[in-house]
Amino acid sequence: MQDCLFCKIVAGEIPSQVVYQDEKVYAFKDIAPVAPVHVLIVPKKHISSLEDLGPEDADIMGHIVLTAAKLARELGLARGYRVVANCQEEGGQTVYHVHFHLIGGRSMQWPPG
Ligand code: C5P
Repeated sequence: MQDCLFCKIVAGEIPSQVVYQDEKVYAFKDIAPVAPVHVLIVPKKHISSLEDLGPEDADIMGHIVLTAAKLARELGLARGYRVVANCQEEGGQTVYHVHFHLIGGRSMQWPPG
């Protein structure tokens, strides 16, 4: 999508610190990390929010979660981590291209703010 920040990052038009990519997903370091490890995992396909997912996206969403678990292992998060997706305004979504935060390297609090 033309004006989507994360589409531009996926396309390499905006620089990012890539952690992993394959034909379906792109993972990169969050520009404003909230923990020692903070990686964003996004589908290469533009999907604005979880609200816009269709049945055809089940495969890619499963792949994102599996990628999060794989990266967590590779990044040494054996003690635990959090995977979270913020959805729309009240959910705290600020970038409208579906993304999962992989956060770890410190103890997490619950409930989140
Ligand atoms: O869930 P939410 O939409 O708020 O998350 C967007 C995330 O994208 C933020 O954690 C922000 O730091 C990150 N970001 C980034 N690089 C940018 C713009 C935003 O990593 N250029």
